[in-house]
Amino acid sequence: MHYSALKIFLEGLTGNRGWGRVWREPEPKPAYDIVIVGGGGHGLSTAFYLSNEFGLTNVAVLEKGWLGSGNIGRNTTIIRSNYLLEGNQPFYELSMKLWEGLEQSFNYNAMVSQRGILNLYHSDGQRDAFARRGNAMRMTGAGAELLDRAQLEKMVPFLDYENARFPIKGALYQPRGGTVRHDAVAWGYARGADRKGVDILQNCEVTGFDIADGTCTGVQTSRGAIRAKKIVVCAAGSSSRVMSLAGMRLPIESHVLQAFVSEGLKPVIPGVITFGAGHFYISQSDKGGLVFGGDIDGYNTYAQRGNLPVVEDVCEGGMAVMPMIGRARLLRMWGGVMDMSMDGSPFIDRTHIGGLYFNGGWCYGGFKATPASGYCTAHLLAKDEPHPVAAAYRLDRFRRGVPIDEKGAGAQPNLH
Ligand SMILES: Cc1cc2nc3c(=O)[nH]c(=O)nc-3n(C[C@H](O)[C@H](O)[C@H](O)COP(=O)(O)OP(=O)(O)OC[C@H]3O[C@@H](n4cnc5c(N)ncnc54)[C@H](O)[C@@H]3O)c2cc1C
Repeated sequence: MHYSALKIFLEGLTGNRGWGRVWREPEPKPAYDIVIVGGGGHGLSTAFYLSNEFGLTNVAVLEKGWLGSGNIGRNTTIIRSNYLLEGNQPFYELSMKLWEGLEQSFNYNAMVSQRGILNLYHSDGQRDAFARRGNAMRMTGAGAELLDRAQLEKMVPFLDYENARFPIKGALYQPRGGTVRHDAVAWGYARGADRKGVDILQNCEVTGFDIADGTCTGVQTSRGAIRAKKIVVCAAGSSSRVMSLAGMRLPIESHVLQAFVSEGLKPVIPGVITFGAGHFYISQSDKGGLVFGGDIDGYNTYAQRGNLPVVEDVCEGGMAVMPMIGRARLLRMWGGVMDMSMDGSPFIDRTHIGGLYFNGGWCYGGFKATPASGYCTAHLLAKDEPHPVAAAYRLDRFRRGVPIDEKGAGAQPNLH
């Protein structure tokens, strides 16, 4: 079923009775060429690019719950490519380019909305750091503008510029940043992969790996054993648990991150705004809710819910940067489990076990990375060599002494 304006028009005339299922519900086959563990954004985008770009269609995605039940359906939907380091910036810029053509490539409305992202700065030192970051962005064509206070006030007059503790002096602006409807991304990729013949198996939990003589030849699942020539784990917050089934210990910790949505309001915020003197980021959804978040909770957990101290901390950040938020009522909040790596950067790599690959460690950056992550993971699986923009995301980078520490926070997963 191809979506088009004509199809919508004809369905409107005939009572919307002709819409088919968006993807099939097949039974698992005994064997595939490639098995992808985890039906979140990264697993589904890997399946989409394997089948649509690399012509590999004997592929299954195994998801223990339902599509969109993980972080792909829980995040605050922000996309941007405003990174500084060489290992990261070209990767996130590839992702941004793929976002820009995504709806056409998978024929699905993912509500890609490039309304711009503003990173506020509050001191001269922070301005200098943002100028450097902006220059790095311009070198990859990501586009960046350093705004002073007068320029910023014209765009977002409602911020608290005179806050005695955190006066706002300007912002780094990436006009191409913005938001995308997160669950539609999962549905669009699933549909695009399914149309090429990829089996998407929901309620299929991987419970073990079949490993003999250093090679992985299949997985045990809640729906039976499945053999595969190559297996890639894209389990995000569950990465450590899943890879421990293969006997691997990862440089990753799991923490919960919360998201918040207010009651629906008339349009007040033009794009995405991030606070530079605390951890707070905000945008407004098309339904009118203010969508915001901040820090992860400060302890390790696999629970998809958070605690009150972080709620208070996030709301304090909101009040410091835009006091009018105090008038809005909080409608909903939830948590997702984040795979926080030691240097804040991800992994797309083979493991030391033959046939077993790993994608994870996405921290706060995993949603914006979804298209490039899927593309580069598919490239690695199809060609058995890393894509050039993901070449730094190796599992042995700590042993080799080349971490990619964008924030300069050191080996502290909770600070990245
Ligand atoms: C509250 C919150 C806000 C965020 N905001 C942003 C943001 O604004 N911008 C941004 O770029 N990033 C953001 N992120 C991060 C981003 O959402 C994640 O990094 C990214 O979604 C992780 O990749 P994924 O989509 O593949 O994960 P998931 O959707 O979590 O997919 C992993 C899947 O693996 C499945 N799985 C686990 N174990 C097994 C098993 N044994 N067998 C089979 N399946 C299994 C899970 O059920 C899950 O569906 C946010 C995250 C959270 C929680």
